[in-house]
Amino acid sequence: MFLTVHAIFALIFIKFAPNIFWAFIIGLISHFILDMIPHGEEKTKNWSDEEKAKKLPGIAGIDTTILLIVWYSIQHNLQLPINISFFLIFGAILPDIIQGVYLALTEHPGNHKYTQIHYRIHHLLSKNLLSMKIGIFIQLFTLITSIYLITLLYK
Ligand SMILES: [Zn+2]
Repeated sequence: MFLTVHAIFALIFIKFAPNIFWAFIIGLISHFILDMIPHGEEKTKNWSDEEKAKKLPGIAGIDTTILLIVWYSIQHNLQLPINISFFLIFGAILPDIIQGVYLALTEHPGNHKYTQIHYRIHHLLSKNLLSMKIGIFIQLFTLITSIYLITLLYK
């Protein structure tokens, strides 16, 4: 899933995070829960390492920019506690940051235990592969629902 979706989904749980430690843990757990929902990226793991190296940095750059814009407007509108908010998001995107480091710095990222476990989680609930189109729709839906819920809960 896109970092933006992971990050904003985690913010739904801000009330359940009494401090930055728990914010981080809740963010981390929310990452893997969200990864279990089929979301159309499953096929990217079949990209060659070269394809990944070529395409992923650009995608991650755009994704991070959108994440910062959406996060900023939520913070600006709802005045959520910034420390808790930050650590929720940090926990929520860290697993993919680590994955990114593996992709960037190791020769065969697919062979690493971390990558294998991470990808296995994607298929715990469903073995089906979605098309990228339906996956992006699911991600947009999750993002918009998350923004709606956060606004509902914290306005
Ligand atoms: Zn993940």
